[in-house]
Amino acid sequence: MMSNPEEVLSRVFGYQQFRGPQREIIDEVMAGRNALVLMPTGGGKSLCYQIPGMIRPGTAVVVSPLIALMQDQVDALRQAGVRAGFLNSSLMPDQQQAVIAELRSGELDLLYVAPERLIQPAMLSLLRSVPLALFAIDEAHCVSQWGHDFRADYLQLSLLQSQFPEVPRIALTATADDNTRAEISDRLGLNEARHFISGFDRPNIQYRITQKQNPRQQLLGFLRREHPRDAGIVYCLSRRKVEDTAAWLTEQGFTALPYHAGLSSELRQHHQQRFLREDGVIIVATIAFGMGIDKPDVRFIVHLDLPKSIEAYYQETGRAGRDGEPATAWMVYGLQDVIKLRQMMEGSQGNEQYKRIERGKLDAMLGLCEISSCRRHALLNYFGEDAPERCGNCDACLSPAETWDGTDAARKALSCIYRTGQRFGVNHLIDVLHGVENDKIFQNNHHQVSTHGIGKELDRKTWQSVFRQLVARAYINVDHSTYGGLYLSERARPLLRGEERIELRLDVREPVASQQKRRIPDDMNTEDLRLWQALKQCRKRLAEEFDVPSYVIFHDATLRDMVQYRPLNAQQLLGINGVGQGKLEKYGDAFLRLINDHEQAIV
Ligand code: ADP
Ligand code: ZN
Repeated sequence: MMSNPEEVLSRVFGYQQFRGPQREIIDEVMAGRNALVLMPTGGGKSLCYQIPGMIRPGTAVVVSPLIALMQDQVDALRQAGVRAGFLNSSLMPDQQQAVIAELRSGELDLLYVAPERLIQPAMLSLLRSVPLALFAIDEAHCVSQWGHDFRADYLQLSLLQSQFPEVPRIALTATADDNTRAEISDRLGLNEARHFISGFDRPNIQYRITQKQNPRQQLLGFLRREHPRDAGIVYCLSRRKVEDTAAWLTEQGFTALPYHAGLSSELRQHHQQRFLREDGVIIVATIAFGMGIDKPDVRFIVHLDLPKSIEAYYQETGRAGRDGEPATAWMVYGLQDVIKLRQMMEGSQGNEQYKRIERGKLDAMLGLCEISSCRRHALLNYFGEDAPERCGNCDACLSPAETWDGTDAARKALSCIYRTGQRFGVNHLIDVLHGVENDKIFQNNHHQVSTHGIGKELDRKTWQSVFRQLVARAYINVDHSTYGGLYLSERARPLLRGEERIELRLDVREPVASQQKRRIPDDMNTEDLRLWQALKQCRKRLAEEFDVPSYVIFHDATLRDMVQYRPLNAQQLLGINGVGQGKLEKYGDAFLRLINDHEQAIV
């Protein structure tokens, strides 16, 4: 029986040190007190309840909405030698009975359950009959009715405080904002508890936002240049686009699988499994994919359409690089995206307050796209966190955007909207500015308005950029009842009257080349690379043998450390980050043999 957290950390999980507030949180729960934990994705929330769960007497009950992932989570724990099990609707009756028997006889340190299961009377009375170490409520923001992941079953978790007042509760989430936190705290009875709030920065994620020119070619270039064999997620808004993009990427030689709510649940499950288990799989998905995907080696997140809020953007991009290795969040957006979003905003349903909140969120998202200063700074500020002016790891810091004095152009654009009656779309307005003479111009007498032909000095792309920025910055509104007719907002007045000047971004035509620091295995020589390949091969074999994803055996970072430090015996292998006693016993021999053979071959 291990009794001290450091010992569990190193013997079971193979890590040398606690990260950030982990140790403090563990102390709090070990002492039997409640806690609310806000930590970014990849911050290391799981250990905060797993370790107290293993040390405190009784079983720790982990509530998680992610049924599809429980199996993998529990498999991973068992690989490390942890006594863990799960109960959810995917189990056959006899399997369930086996888990319940284990629970009854005190053989489980961790029991994962779905919320709908937990709140069943039979389950509650079962839990009352066994000693409990704690309740961990993972993805705790699911209790929030304003949030995007609301689950009705989570609301009922408030019964834990009344029915199990003596069992400590720890709620965990990566959702940042104050409202959500207050709601979690209220509903789960954590107002008296200590709140642990970590910084939200994900320094290993490189944020890049680029203008859409030819999105497929841009995507292809990005993948081929920077992530040719990596696992990643590509987000699109519509099912149709998901299908098309996945098919097209497959034609280009990638392993790309679609994921959206229109596919059967078997197929979705199958694709998710392949993503988790195989190396280098790309999932093309609507936003329906990703919650709780704890695959640590997702190397890139692509957005081919704008997310609706910074919260959504941050949550989706947060799925990259949980292992702390460099990862890229890459997005393209263009005039049409901006218009579409603005239009949705105008036409959104619901009460005024709700609409105002939604609009504010969209505005903030558009603002993030259009700024020419550091993206990370803006993101963290949005979540109320101070950050340096420049992070050095976003497109704005790596290749600063130039700006130009767009006052004249903006005035021409606004005045053209006004003169043509505030109901035409961008393409027509640019035709007017260019002095085009076509049927639509003549039919509407637009060859006679004063703005006809006053904008020949800028090409079409530049005009689109001007309109995009004016729409994004809310000088222009988009009518939602027509096909994107533009009209002026109040903000446009001072600019039109010449009382205000405006700086516009100069669009970058070529995406910035990334300057990622350490990449696996880019910085290896051929000899290292040979060992690296051999280690990966060995990991793959073991993964198949144990029927688990390969990262459950060892993370890439652990294999890379093996290449670097070349451990030759069990003691040295234990010194590698990510190698604990359990994994040493299971896989140590196989890897040591490989490394020893390799060392002999090169002498
Ligand atoms: P979260 O749930 O907060 O997104 P996880 O608990 O999944 O994060 O942890 C993210 C990754 O970091 C996991 O691969 C985990 O093994 C690793 N990790 C957690 N704590 C430590 C630590 N103290 N040292 C090294 N790696 C850690
Ligand atoms: Zn930056």
